[in-house]
Amino acid sequence: MVTMDKKSFKKAYVNKFLEMHGIELKEGTNQQKYEALGSLVRDYVTRTWLRTNKKYNKTGEKQVYYFSMEFLLGRLLGDALLNIGIRDICKEGLAELNIDLQELENLEEDQGLGNGGLGRLAACFLDSMASLNIPGHGCGIRYKYGFFEQKIIDGKQVEVSDDWLRHGNVWERRNSNKAEIVRFGGDIKVEERNGRLTFVHVNYAPVLAVPYDTPIVGYKNGIANTLRLWSAEAVSNEFDFSSFSRGDFLKAIEYKNSVESISQVLYPEDSFYEGKILRLKQQYFFVSAGIQSIIRHFKKHGGNIFELDDKISIHINDTHPTLAIPELMRILLDEEGLAWEDAWRITEKTISYTNHTILAEALEKWPIDMFKSLLPRIYMIIEEINRRYCEELWSKFPGQENKISRMAIIGNGQIRMAPLAIVGSHSINGVAKLHTEILKKKEMSDFYYLYPNKFNNKTNGITHRRWLLKSNPKLTQLLCETIGDGFIKHPLDLQNFENHLNDTSVLDRLAKIKFENKQKLAKIIFQNQNISVDPKSIFDVQVKRIHAYKRQTMNCLRIMDLYNKLIDNPNLDIHPRTFIFAGKAAPGYYLAKNTIELINNVADKINNDSRVNDKIKVVFMENYRVSLAEDIIPGTDVSEQISTTTKEASGTSNMKFMMNGAITVATLDGANIEIKDEVGDDNIIIFGLNADEVLNYYRNGGYSALEMYNNDLRIKNVLNDLINGKYHNDRDRFKSIYENLITYNDEFFVLKDFDSYLKAQDKIDKLYRNKREWQKMCGVNIAHSGIFSSDRTIEQYATGIWGSEVLYKNL
Ligand SMILES: *Cc1c(COP(=O)(O)O)cnc(C)c1O
Repeated sequence: MVTMDKKSFKKAYVNKFLEMHGIELKEGTNQQKYEALGSLVRDYVTRTWLRTNKKYNKTGEKQVYYFSMEFLLGRLLGDALLNIGIRDICKEGLAELNIDLQELENLEEDQGLGNGGLGRLAACFLDSMASLNIPGHGCGIRYKYGFFEQKIIDGKQVEVSDDWLRHGNVWERRNSNKAEIVRFGGDIKVEERNGRLTFVHVNYAPVLAVPYDTPIVGYKNGIANTLRLWSAEAVSNEFDFSSFSRGDFLKAIEYKNSVESISQVLYPEDSFYEGKILRLKQQYFFVSAGIQSIIRHFKKHGGNIFELDDKISIHINDTHPTLAIPELMRILLDEEGLAWEDAWRITEKTISYTNHTILAEALEKWPIDMFKSLLPRIYMIIEEINRRYCEELWSKFPGQENKISRMAIIGNGQIRMAPLAIVGSHSINGVAKLHTEILKKKEMSDFYYLYPNKFNNKTNGITHRRWLLKSNPKLTQLLCETIGDGFIKHPLDLQNFENHLNDTSVLDRLAKIKFENKQKLAKIIFQNQNISVDPKSIFDVQVKRIHAYKRQTMNCLRIMDLYNKLIDNPNLDIHPRTFIFAGKAAPGYYLAKNTIELINNVADKINNDSRVNDKIKVVFMENYRVSLAEDIIPGTDVSEQISTTTKEASGTSNMKFMMNGAITVATLDGANIEIKDEVGDDNIIIFGLNADEVLNYYRNGGYSALEMYNNDLRIKNVLNDLINGKYHNDRDRFKSIYENLITYNDEFFVLKDFDSYLKAQDKIDKLYRNKREWQKMCGVNIAHSGIFSSDRTIEQYATGIWGSEVLYKNL
């Protein structure tokens, strides 16, 4: 926490600006003003950062390292100001200099090094670890290009590369002196030295891993942890132009390009595995660099390698960083000279793993041939892990060959990352109760039987500092006035807000705040999409990755159905609604891109039909990302969480919405179930098949989409509208969606849940008309959102998984 007054802040800022830009403040551009502010705040944070690192080195407390391919941080300035506690004086001070803080904040590029929920979770966890005084750091890749920028052109998604570093990045510090070498390819020479087999890696291609460190500041507690992102560079003595002949010169260029490609770009697939060698290189690259630097730092400060698991926890976010297991083994065996049994015990106790999805298409597996030639020593270690593990399996399940080959790490010419992650960690957690139950009973039941004590649940969470304090200052103000500011440190205290929900003046204010947030969102919609929407209408929002299982299609079909009804009956009595969508599709995911195009064409048709315009509007907002989510969520009335039950492991936007007083329309999937348990049946609208029904259909069949089509005229009509030219001159345009539902029998039960979904929406319409009841429902949702703070989640990780005395003490 930084203490200062407005006057000294203003003086420091004016000086900083002059020093950086060599001109007077009033002559500067907003970009220059942003850079000066960022730089000043970075300076403040740097002192805290230094102190924190000194403290960690002195106390020797247990350090947690959160390994993730993705960190979806969004913008950092606003959060840093909030957490160091100078947001208000900064805002006021700048205002006196005729500068609008929000305008400067908006100039910061989102740090978009992630695809969606998984990457955003990692970012929320960093914020919570720092705020709870937990020494917890991130480790990942500094992609030169983050998640692509989405443009909508003629209704279609067009991907533009995300050159997020073009104006520089004030938050990061390049630490060349802490670079590591990561080795690819080559051969392993086995030699006997002093009676012990040693493995020498020769003829490899070295890659220099250079860390860029970003401070992660805790909320007013004087702590700044580190997010370390690795960048791949050519090893300089391998790239000395003068020493190369022509042929070597070209080779050298090739080497440099192939090295730099490793941290060039984030793969834009969410919950989808692509067996590309570059992806494998990315995974080993950051994992190897990360573990080497952790061990180097640990030893430098006098750590005893046999106590590694007492002093260090390494958490892997999904299977993407699973090579941390054989990489740690490699270092303990080959570099530290430990015996296999010791190395294995330490590795297993150090590493823990979170599973994020049960979707089969997301399971990572690598062809042996590709793996072996890229990572020969790591392959040998995995073979040995597998050999010993299969021995254990044979003794536990004698004669059960099928089961054993199903559970093996290596099989069918492939290396399977999930079994490796399970075998090599002491903890495996799912991300919501239902998800963990499905892992235990179904998806990973063989493993659960083998290692029942490893499995546990940690329901996801979101940082209320970004998703409430920062993004919804007006609601935060109301909460502070009614229940005090205790909830900021103890989010469960939000419950006290429920005591104020019989006070009509509080409800009036709640309604007024929502309305103002909707006005603000309406303005942004007009600026970005040139569509005017009425803030008095219900803002009905579905924003998330576009994916068949998330069922944006179902949402769109019900809008098409409502449109039909309004045309048939112009007097249909509904409260006006604005349907808002946003989200990116993976560039190679045709069906998802087709869905975006459908939504945009439906929007065009409806928004230009004066017969219905005072009742409904449809908006697809371009380029969904963290900063846009912060604009949309506080201005939302209805949160659409409508995935096919069993498919959404947890969801986290569902939590952000309830915390901002939206009412959820939901299937009993992921964390929606836990939201329902918190707010009660009367404060959430549930619809659709339950998990048992869905699992039963998948197991035993018996569902016919065609039957739904033939027996429900509403379904028949909207499906025919997909292919009769109503929404596009080219009748084949949305055929893939039609065929997916009819020809391929609707894998995600869109038609099966349709009727129940429409009824849920009718219920919303009725509830919204009763203003007082609606406001109370919003209030109950806010009051019960505290448990979904990632502070609660991180406390559970710290005590239940990373456990050490120091981590307990810090809580
Ligand atoms: C929270 C968040 C997500 C996750 O949304 P879900 O609806 O839980 O899938 C994805 N992208 C961004 C930008 C987010 O802020």
